[in-house]
Amino acid sequence: MGIRPAGEATLEEQCVTRNMRMTEQRRVIARVLEAAEDHPDVEELYRRASAIDPRISLSTVYRTVNLFEEAGLVTKHDFKDGRARFEQIPDEHHDHLIDIRSGKVIEFRNEDIEAIQELIAKKLGYKLVDHRLELYAVPLAEKDG
Ligand SMILES: [Zn+2]
Repeated sequence: MGIRPAGEATLEEQCVTRNMRMTEQRRVIARVLEAAEDHPDVEELYRRASAIDPRISLSTVYRTVNLFEEAGLVTKHDFKDGRARFEQIPDEHHDHLIDIRSGKVIEFRNEDIEAIQELIAKKLGYKLVDHRLELYAVPLAEKDG
């Protein structure tokens, strides 16, 4: 999610640090991404960015988020609904639960899961450096209709 502790560099500042040429449109897209509390796809980012600056095109949003991703500032998710979702790289790792009925994405972190993944990698002779975990679920209330 886009909430960043006070004192940390914003996405815009991180782009500047990486010597990225920051046009006004790229700045708007960076701010929209940073403010996102969900996991928007490119079309949704385009809707939000073009509401701020109507000159921003869908292809500019595509190019810009891919640029951010290549720079390692933004991560792309595939939650199996055919849309690539984007999220600013969080300060602290988290995993996702996807409600397949509503498409809602819930972020969580579980230390037991973190520890067991490290253990699995270690048993296989590796040091874990990263992982992705997505849980696909339906609300309990809807169980068995
Ligand atoms: Zn997330």
